[in-house]
Amino acid sequence: MSSRTKKRCRLFLLAAAALAAAATAPRGADLPEFDGERALDLVRAQCDLGPRDPGSPGIVALRDLIEQMARRAGLSAVRLPFTAEDPLRGGQVEGWNLVVSAGPPGGQRLWLGAHYDTRPVADMDPDPARRAEPILGANDGGSGVAVLLHLIELMGRTPPPQGVDLLFFDLEDSGRPSEPGTYCLGSRHLARTWEDFGSPLAGGTPRGLVLLDMVGGRDLHIPMERYSLARAPAWTRAVFARAAALGLEAFDPRPGRAIVDDHLPFLERGIPAVNLIDFDFAAWHTVGDTPEACSAASLGQVGRLVTDLVYRP
Ligand SMILES: [Zn+2]
Repeated sequence: MSSRTKKRCRLFLLAAAALAAAATAPRGADLPEFDGERALDLVRAQCDLGPRDPGSPGIVALRDLIEQMARRAGLSAVRLPFTAEDPLRGGQVEGWNLVVSAGPPGGQRLWLGAHYDTRPVADMDPDPARRAEPILGANDGGSGVAVLLHLIELMGRTPPPQGVDLLFFDLEDSGRPSEPGTYCLGSRHLARTWEDFGSPLAGGTPRGLVLLDMVGGRDLHIPMERYSLARAPAWTRAVFARAAALGLEAFDPRPGRAIVDDHLPFLERGIPAVNLIDFDFAAWHTVGDTPEACSAASLGQVGRLVTDLVYRP
């Protein structure tokens, strides 16, 4: 091969690479801007519905709101009902996971998840008289959902280059504290059934799951959750490396605590999953978990990370 042919060949390869990059990686103007203030508004909008514990009017209204926003954005939303034993109140309870999908169908997909139910009891409240009240769940439940809802708005305006599924889990937070197996009932159900005939997830293959839980508190600090790091080290490190590349200071690439959460059922099925969580939240499972405990700056950092993951696979 002459040096000229080689050169032409190299140029062609460069052009092909540039085209491939353009097709998969929007830059600058194509990358939508995640607005932390908008996400905080969406935390407030959820709290305006009241507590969203199982069977409450608030959770019924939130399910409708998620579907309405998906429909308005031109995205598909599918309800996946299941029944389980209610760990706190006894008897059977109905749960609904929701899956909102965007981008090209099938293929390798990014999964983003959050639980949308809130805890029926403020059992960690400093005031014993208030421990039977339901929490408002601005951060615990509301924050992750708010990030996903704003992402629905962004994906409606700018379709992502890859398939993206937003997993809204029900019945995460009705567990009995001494029994970890009584939490995360929605995610357990979805992890068992996602490949079943008729499931909105059956046609694709998950690249990995990014779970958002308690991502809206002030002075956000998110270390590498320990189950994620132990069982999905490459995925966890890749997500934290992206946060570092974006200069997001809330993310701390050091091992943190091990936390039972909605990522575990997926890790148990061999699906890479990382839990982005700040567990050092003073108002956790108290009546103080209100929008005032949340910050647009924190939601903005998490939002910028997931927006980048969505638009630059
Ligand atoms: Zn909780």
